Amino acid sequence: FGQIASSDFSTAVESSSSWRNRSSLRISNLIGGSFVDSQSTESVDVINPATQEVVSQIPLTTREEFKSAVAAAKETFPSWRNTPITTRQRIMFKLQDLIRKNMDKLALNITTEQGKTLKDAQGDVFRGLEVVEHACGMATLQMGEYVSNVSNGIDTYSTREPLGVCAGICPFNFPAMIPLWMFPVAVTCGNTFILKPSEKDPGASMILSELAMEAGLPDGVLNIVHGTNDIVNAICDDDDIRAISFVGSNTAGMHIYSRASATGKRVQSNMGAKNHGIVMPDANVDATLNALVAAGFGAAGQRCMALSTVVLVGDSKSWEEKLVERAKSLKVNVGTDPDADLGPVISKQAKERICRLVESGTESGARLLLDGRDIVVPGYEQGNFVGPTILSGVTADMECYKEEIFGPVLICMQADSFDEAINLVNRNKYGNGAAIFTTSGAAARKFQAEIEAGQVGINVPIPVPLPFFSFTGSKASFAGDLNFYGKAGVQFYTQIKTVTQQWKDLPGGAGISLAMPTSQ
Ligand code: NAD
Repeated sequence: FGQIASSDFSTAVESSSSWRNRSSLRISNLIGGSFVDSQSTESVDVINPATQEVVSQIPLTTREEFKSAVAAAKETFPSWRNTPITTRQRIMFKLQDLIRKNMDKLALNITTEQGKTLKDAQGDVFRGLEVVEHACGMATLQMGEYVSNVSNGIDTYSTREPLGVCAGICPFNFPAMIPLWMFPVAVTCGNTFILKPSEKDPGASMILSELAMEAGLPDGVLNIVHGTNDIVNAICDDDDIRAISFVGSNTAGMHIYSRASATGKRVQSNMGAKNHGIVMPDANVDATLNALVAAGFGAAGQRCMALSTVVLVGDSKSWEEKLVERAKSLKVNVGTDPDADLGPVISKQAKERICRLVESGTESGARLLLDGRDIVVPGYEQGNFVGPTILSGVTADMECYKEEIFGPVLICMQADSFDEAINLVNRNKYGNGAAIFTTSGAAARKFQAEIEAGQVGINVPIPVPLPFFSFTGSKASFAGDLNFYGKAGVQFYTQIKTVTQQWKDLPGGAGISLAMPTSQ
């Protein structure tokens, strides 16, 4: 640890070029502890969704540059895995402190590149910070098991060993939280890491990498490569990468899952969702309406746990009227406006897609109770804004129900009975989250037992578990065996090794037995 004392380290950071290129908008890769400008001539613009201003550009990293990032991670692995776990934990302690101190800087970057409100951006950072806090206790989480004297003079114990080079591929919607679901757990377990941020909002990953190095993470432990499909495919195919964490859409997630697992890699793939909230007639009206509006429209609906579908059991009219009233009161504005409730969606294409799905809903018979598609925000006329939109009378065969909309659109469905509502939710292919709003313990208990979703909320609209549990999406929302963070996250990034040892005075004349050894 002496070699990576913080004072030595700050020198190292200063001597590297910054991740922001001074002479152009291009941002750098991070390879072996240095921010390196890519030699690639191709770039993708990072665009502020409220203004259309080009904030920066990511390079389409070359194959050689990618290989050098993997080589740096591979070379660093032996020394990093042998670095005491207490040292690795201390770096996480320092990192969580630095993230707190840089919360505003991170949030402003997120709002500029992704569009969400500053307050929501702080929540994005905070939910990732909690994973870093959890990683501070890795020694306990990574503990093995021991059974003494499994046979005469023989003990068996298991250890959890790091895998080697792991990689993470990120979506645009949580630019801080999702990288923080990945690399802090992986590196504290003793792995080295290649991070591929979303090409739409890479800035938070870059700031986090600077903070990680300032916290004492040695050169080469965390590497960052930018790009799109080609770099992702290179990650899937690379023989030196042992495991991939992916979060994003089903199209990309299933492609990565099959391509990477065909080469023998571990993959955890968190994907799309359609989260339902069942509202029982006995639900607390005020609290339920607030929860539905917040969870449906927060982050402009661009959360994988957004509660995008409300299933009203029994009479739906009065609920819908009140929902519309509350949704109308939300303020749509640039995310830096302190009064904004929701900012823009990520891109012009995303807005078009959202509007098309709303249109398809009305064409197939849904009623548009609130239409936010033509909203104009003064001063930000070019922004990709969509105001709160509510569709009612939606049925399970409609495209707007079957597709993940990923925008500020709340879909209302009606069920005559609780059983019908549960069946409706269970027939949906996704299984990320589902919530019930009720004052009946019996209804809540039935819901939690019968609902086929991996994360269940009881009067809680967005039941994302804290990091001592895991993020347990299921059905089409997840591919793999071991979920993100919590105990499963540690298992994902470690290989179990079981040792059987014999320490006894061996009898000389026992002879040779070729029978399968059994416990004596
Ligand atoms: P996306 O799939 O378009 O992009 C995610 C990553 O995959 C990016 O880094 C991108 O460069 C890469 N990628 C995209 N298409 C690819 C392809 N064809 N081949 C190889 N790589 C490809 O997802 P997004 O639009 O950034 O994020 C939104 C999606 O993520 C939504 O579906 C949302 O539900 C999901 N999401 C899920 C969770 C979860 O935990 N379940 C969390 C956040 C977001």
